[in-house]
Amino acid sequence: MESAVNFYDHTREELVKLLAEWGSPRHTGAQVFRWLYQKRARDFGEMTDLSKELRRELASKATLSTLTLHTRQASQDGTVKYLWQPAPDSAGSTALVESVLIPMARDEEGEPSRYTACLSTQAGCRMKCTFCATGVPKFRRNLTTAEITAQIVGMERDSGVPFNNIVVMGMGEPMDNYENTEKAMRILHDPEGLNLGRRRITVSTSGLIDHLERFIKDDWPVSLAVSLHSADPEIRDRLMPINRSNPLDKLYKVMRRFTFVRRLPVTLEYILLKDVNDRPEDAEKLAAYCKDLLCKVNLIRYNPVPTLPFEAPGEDRVMAFRDDLKRRGMKVFLRERKGVDIAAACGQLGFENTPLPGANVAPL
Ligand code: SAH
Ligand code: SF4
Repeated sequence: MESAVNFYDHTREELVKLLAEWGSPRHTGAQVFRWLYQKRARDFGEMTDLSKELRRELASKATLSTLTLHTRQASQDGTVKYLWQPAPDSAGSTALVESVLIPMARDEEGEPSRYTACLSTQAGCRMKCTFCATGVPKFRRNLTTAEITAQIVGMERDSGVPFNNIVVMGMGEPMDNYENTEKAMRILHDPEGLNLGRRRITVSTSGLIDHLERFIKDDWPVSLAVSLHSADPEIRDRLMPINRSNPLDKLYKVMRRFTFVRRLPVTLEYILLKDVNDRPEDAEKLAAYCKDLLCKVNLIRYNPVPTLPFEAPGEDRVMAFRDDLKRRGMKVFLRERKGVDIAAACGQLGFENTPLPGANVAPL
């Protein structure tokens, strides 16, 4: 059971403060922080510019515990899904956590040259969107800050590749685990942490309005993606129960405020669901909704989930929907489908943690 202080739970400022309280000079906290994220130390013994005595003291008071790798699955398209086993929490509860490593650009030899890492913030999700696998099993718990940042540290260690981009689009609703996710984002962004710029980290939310107000005020150092999926209140109600208490008009206002305050576009995620939100009138409503909003639309082909009553549209419908939005002057991207054979694609996390037939399960 986890009881000692975990240094991965701390931002740089918090670590400086904590070590100062324990009697070290201010620079020691920053030094330890760099050992964690820049030099990737696995234990206190490696922190060779600290005195042996201090290293021993830290080891007796704190842990650097991260996540234990449970399973790794590699897709034929190069996507890798990691399943992690966190230490049991203070209530003794265990849960499995998933992250995904997605190859983006390729070099001349066809080898991946850039990667995006997709992180989870909760084991399960309380939002229960009707199309999403993560909402199907019972919600387990919020991940700690350490469990969120450890996904990155663990994937970097395992794969040996650095990430250029991080998306918080795995299991869970980041705004529903506000404090822990915010801290993790600050650590990823910190120039002495993982040093990822605001445009390199994207947090995706189902659109919890009060939380978004707070997110703007607190100035999380990230870009924002909002899962819209429909600009029609009735359809969105059906897809996302949270729409009832977080309606589209209020969501619009808070997104607009984000674009004004941060001078950044908001990404609208839109899953295409056959005969539900993929018709010409749906494109028209979406375009009308976005008229005065600085935004780009990320179209996502639905990845079917066993037992859920939704299907992906045919490719002709997908292209027609995209072209329709483009004709209406919108910035539209069609997200490539990755990792479907290992259930690592959007919305497939957490449903069943067993490999699908044909998946290549790399030995650990
Ligand atoms: N909870 C947050 C972030 C995690 S979900 C959110 O909802 O935004 C990340 C993205 O995957 C969301 O846009 C979500 O709607 C989408 N998604 C969920 N299930 C999906 C599925 N089966 N196929 C494709 N995308 C899905
Ligand atoms: Fe939760 Fe996002 Fe899935 Fe909705 S789509 S159930 S908010 S993880």
